[in-house]
Amino acid sequence: MKLETKCVQSGYRPKSGEPGALPIAMSTTFTYESTQAVGDLFDLKADGFFYTRLANPTTAAVERKLADLEGGTAAMLTSSGQAATTLSILNLVESGEKIVSSSEIYGGTFNLFAVTMKKMGIECVFVDPDDFAGLEKALKGGARAAFGETIANPALSVLDIEKWAGLAHKYNVPLIIDNTFATPAICRPLEYGADIVVHSTSKYLDGHAVSLGGLIVDGGKFDYKKGGYKQFTEPDESYHGLVYADSFPGAPFVTKARVQMMRDLGSMISPMNAFLLNLGTETLPLRMERHSENALKVAKFLKDSGKVKSISYPALEGDKQYSKCKKYLGGKGSGVITFDIGSREKAVAFMDKLRLARIVVHVAEVRTGVLHPASSTHRQLSDEQLLAAGITPGTIRLSCGIESADDIIADISDALYTS
Ligand SMILES: *Cc1c(COP(=O)(O)O)cnc(C)c1O
Repeated sequence: MKLETKCVQSGYRPKSGEPGALPIAMSTTFTYESTQAVGDLFDLKADGFFYTRLANPTTAAVERKLADLEGGTAAMLTSSGQAATTLSILNLVESGEKIVSSSEIYGGTFNLFAVTMKKMGIECVFVDPDDFAGLEKALKGGARAAFGETIANPALSVLDIEKWAGLAHKYNVPLIIDNTFATPAICRPLEYGADIVVHSTSKYLDGHAVSLGGLIVDGGKFDYKKGGYKQFTEPDESYHGLVYADSFPGAPFVTKARVQMMRDLGSMISPMNAFLLNLGTETLPLRMERHSENALKVAKFLKDSGKVKSISYPALEGDKQYSKCKKYLGGKGSGVITFDIGSREKAVAFMDKLRLARIVVHVAEVRTGVLHPASSTHRQLSDEQLLAAGITPGTIRLSCGIESADDIIADISDALYTS
């Protein structure tokens, strides 16, 4: 099946007489005919459900679809994107070990790696996404996981996934890619050598800004024996001696993430949110097509307006990311644009004039939204500190929705020329 078909048909395949749409199993528990039946579940000998913290029929159907969309072998949903990133790192790396990450990543992930994981004894080496010598040095220096974003939020750089995967694999280290901004409708990182894909499903996958969630997808190909990842190749004493790489060779990563990490850390998505997410995924290819089309039209308008100092959009000809956008994103840039309007005052005046585009601390949804980092997410920073974080006082992040491009441009044009 092609992606568009999978988005609608994959995951839930009802039998005769069953509901046509995915039912919501709003239940924490499940019942059994015998003690043997529940014992087999605990021994992972039988497939089934016993507690929604670990698995749930609604959630499982959405997980099957999302694994299919990314081309992976298995997937696990989590309560948020942050939970997905946290579990994916803790599944691989222990206290006293290191990871390497692109420095151009989501602010929440940066804090997680730089502050919270550090307190847990995991050190993160940050490298510029195009600094391959720096990446290799960190891998040689013992990094146990490599991390980057397909399209970085908010830098909008496109990761050279093949190069990152090639270097990571040279040192037998798995590559984790956050594919939130691209979605599988635009890029499937596993096809370029990534080993694990994570998402904040709160963004385009849900798409309507109604449900928070996260996702981990197992590529199923990484050799944990060769990499010396003992937590996959030696018995797990907390799970009566299970060896993940031997018992679940197709999906050791997600199996361990679920039965060990999710069991102990408990950050499962709610079945209601999984249901809402599933509705979003049904229209994903249509929406990503429109988001990309609208954003390109808006980016061209902004560039030609003579009112902006600089603009970043990967699919805009002349953009630094343009050739990587062609290679990895099929020329589609997704919906987010950043531009510098010149000053803090101009940014505020422009934002306050917008009528259709809403001021939100969110991106990647059907409605057009704007964010001025200097007066919101990065409010506490001085102008010098802002510049060090790669943001200017006049930087605006614009998330193009799926409204008519004409209306989005009319709104922006009014605000640009009257503010
Ligand atoms: C929003 C976001 C996250 C965090 O996801 P939440 O669902 O908000 O926890 C992680 N990575 C990227 C790229 C994001 O945009």
